Amino acid sequence: MRAAEIGGKPKDNPWEMALRQFNRAADLLPLKRGIREFLVQPHRELTVNFPVHMDDGTVKVFTGYRVHHSTVLGPTKGGIRYNPHVDLDEVRALAMWMTWKCALMHLPYGGAKGGVACDPSTLSRGELERLTRRYATEISVIIGPARDIPAPDIGTNEQIMAWIMDTFSMHVGHSTPAVVTGKPISIGGSAGRREATGRGVMIVAREAANARGLEFSGSRVAVQGFGNVGAVTAYLMHDQGCRVVAVSDVQGGIYNPDGLDPRAVLGYVKETGGVAGFPGTTGVSNAELLELPCDFLVPAAIEGQITGGNAARIKARIIVEGANGPTTPDADEILQERGVFVIPDILANAGGVIVSYFEWVQDLASFFWSEEEINARLERIMEQSFAGVAALAKEQQIDLRTSALLFAVRRVADALMTRGIYP
Ligand code: NAD
Repeated sequence: MRAAEIGGKPKDNPWEMALRQFNRAADLLPLKRGIREFLVQPHRELTVNFPVHMDDGTVKVFTGYRVHHSTVLGPTKGGIRYNPHVDLDEVRALAMWMTWKCALMHLPYGGAKGGVACDPSTLSRGELERLTRRYATEISVIIGPARDIPAPDIGTNEQIMAWIMDTFSMHVGHSTPAVVTGKPISIGGSAGRREATGRGVMIVAREAANARGLEFSGSRVAVQGFGNVGAVTAYLMHDQGCRVVAVSDVQGGIYNPDGLDPRAVLGYVKETGGVAGFPGTTGVSNAELLELPCDFLVPAAIEGQITGGNAARIKARIIVEGANGPTTPDADEILQERGVFVIPDILANAGGVIVSYFEWVQDLASFFWSEEEINARLERIMEQSFAGVAALAKEQQIDLRTSALLFAVRRVADALMTRGIYP
């Protein structure tokens, strides 16, 4: 059971959410029945149970997953999540969202996702490395630079990608940097990758402000989740003159209506391990943060945070989905009725997979680009994608999520029809 716990664990099943979103878009498309049935199913799913030596001398068995949702557009791509609540339905949903995200962004990838049910904060560095290397070994039968390329997600980072890259390389007998993205730069990572998702979120927030006639500089921002995506989004929006009034992590949030300096909060998190107690702020829960007065709400933690239960109380004018699946379909309906502009995950947080694609291309070519070049290319793709999705939404009088999904599902369906059904 997916219980509501610290920080509000999703009560809505993410896979059911992903299916409802897909069906809403697919109903608007002329898709043959068999094609629709194929697109909705995960192409392949791997569940692995594997033992890890713990520091206290015991052996603990962990469960991990890797799901390839679609292989129509190319090798699959998607992050690896380490979180106690990881289960097959969550990984399936995240893999499907990756398919649509890559298609929307014109990347030559299908969608995948992986995860291990574990709490990395309770593991020593040695345990984390042994767990990662064994999980990488277990999924090595279906990953590879031409097959499936993992990346970081909740609870994983550059170091974990380095261990996966090294493990895979040891198995094949030569260095294979292109097997994962989000690696440290010293072993074939890309300039700009660490900040890419947050940078993309900032860019679409700016574009959304323009579209809505809202002054970007001076606008108030609340960010749920102060990790890779949330923290970078917060400081890049702060750099643009936005007022970041609240941020949170799994333990809870902090609020100052006059604004806070996200880089100072980052320094504080490095010292204390969390945002709570940052000087000059008042404590708020994750649920309260979502309902604070602000112009932009950036959910950047987990799925199912904005629901039919709280959507009517959201005060933000624009929601930019840094996280995957933070808004349930019930909430979408309420927000649309209320005129809240929701920039969907597959558009808003695509900066990460875009620069991951750049990293993979650089690894395959062994030729590396400058950060300026990467950021400029990222910005262009984000701006064009936002403009395309917003224009179709306006033309067809639909919300941005359905518009983005229409582009994405149509692209995958067209490629599938063009390739034909084998044999
Ligand atoms: P992260 O582990 O770096 O940070 C996650 C943050 O959310 C942390 O501050 C954590 O404390 C907080 N959090 C975790 N569980 C929570 C809960 N139940 N309630 C409230 N806060 C909680 O992870 P990340 O890479 O920043 O990923 C965040 C979201 O962004 C995820 O939905 C992920 O799928 C999505 N995303 C990440 C990337 C990427 O490049 N890392 C790209 C696209 C989308």
